[in-house]
Amino acid sequence: MSARQETSTATAHHVVILGAGYAGMSAAIQLAARVKGREDVQVTVVNAQERFTERMRLHLTATGQRLAELSIPELLEGTEARFVRGWVTAVDADAKTVRIDDDRVLPYDTLVYGLGGVADTCTVPGVEDHAYTLSSAQDAELLAVRLGRLGSGTVVVAGSGLTGVESAAEIAERHPELDVVLLGRAEPGATMNPKAKAYVQAALDRLGVRVRAGAEVVKVLSDTVELAGGESIAADVVLWTSGTRASPLAAAAGLAVDERGRIVTDAALRSVSHPDVYAVGDAAAIRQGYGVMHGTCQGGMPTGVHAALSIECVLKGKQPKPFRFGYYHTPVSLGRGDAVVQFTHPDDSPRRICLTGRMAVRYKEMVTASPWPTYGRMKKMPASGAFWPRGGRSARVREAR
Ligand SMILES: Cc1cc2nc3c(=O)[nH]c(=O)nc-3n(C[C@H](O)[C@H](O)[C@H](O)COP(=O)(O)OP(=O)(O)OC[C@H]3O[C@@H](n4cnc5c(N)ncnc54)[C@H](O)[C@@H]3O)c2cc1C
Repeated sequence: MSARQETSTATAHHVVILGAGYAGMSAAIQLAARVKGREDVQVTVVNAQERFTERMRLHLTATGQRLAELSIPELLEGTEARFVRGWVTAVDADAKTVRIDDDRVLPYDTLVYGLGGVADTCTVPGVEDHAYTLSSAQDAELLAVRLGRLGSGTVVVAGSGLTGVESAAEIAERHPELDVVLLGRAEPGATMNPKAKAYVQAALDRLGVRVRAGAEVVKVLSDTVELAGGESIAADVVLWTSGTRASPLAAAAGLAVDERGRIVTDAALRSVSHPDVYAVGDAAAIRQGYGVMHGTCQGGMPTGVHAALSIECVLKGKQPKPFRFGYYHTPVSLGRGDAVVQFTHPDDSPRRICLTGRMAVRYKEMVTASPWPTYGRMKKMPASGAFWPRGGRSARVREAR
């Protein structure tokens, strides 16, 4: 079948934003608000669904809790940005086109790549075939259906990072009839200070989650998880939260990517191999003084805003500024009635201060609910989205002499 090629307005500069997650949406709203009324710039946002996926709440979806209906086209109303619903199947970085649903081709002058990341299901045999993930709302809904029908049995949450902790706690709280095992290499809360870490472990214990640290999964079967050393754990359901990778589209397009498929960027968030492509959020490998940023919403939203500011600068013939970001917190839910918030140094190492209990629950909810109203404010006042901790000296990248 031949694809329909769209033609762009001859004189307008066409910016296409792929992915309307936390980062892509930030880029889209920020740029659309800044170029509003200009006929020489056209903004198009492409996303798989019209509904905004609150990825930070997918462990709620996975336990059958309903989330708010947030409509991307409605949010874009009044901005002049065009919304295209579809699945991006290829990027041609030389021809500067994007293929959607295999039957439509969109040309671009500047591309913002914000397709996020997914659970890495390729590292251990059997994960791809037998494990559930929280990679998308649909994946989380599938898990919810399975857990709802189980009645009794064992759920193994593989991966003891923060997504694993939040998921294990949520499943144990919502499904007290199930036996929940959280296993991974590190102890839950390993990146936190001793007080916060002890709080996480006590909360998991209270919820009846059986924790197995120092465990290396080597194989997942339909009813068992095999560990290095020969031990097997019976599992009716396996949720895989161990490691993430970016979509293979960027590498297939010939863009320079790192070992996890993320687009390697320069300081202004442009691809080092294709400077007309900007990468944001979990899909980008962005170097700061303390190292390459890891995927979070707290860092992803600023990358989207910064990409929009960089694009605006380049359109004006100016040099874009370097992106700087410093982490400030790690909020972790422990079911609906408990949480812990670890405040952090800009390099994400833990500070001594943390919040626990009800205060932490309120803080976590405020943070999780904040992106949507932030976009609404940015639409009217784009400058309101340009505040985030720059990380001081630890974020500054030292240039090689
Ligand atoms: C359970 C859970 C809890 C989390 N909690 C926190 C937290 O408390 N704090 C925090 O900072 N971070 C948290 N994170 C991490 C955070 O959600 C991610 O870092 C964040 O979503 C990254 O934003 P993004 O815009 O890069 O990608 P995403 O939010 O994943 O958005 C990507 C978008 O691209 C779309 N897309 C992907 N591929 C295609 C395609 N081929 N075609 C069309 N559309 C496509 C997707 O549908 C999606 O809309 C959590 C993650 C999980 C799973």
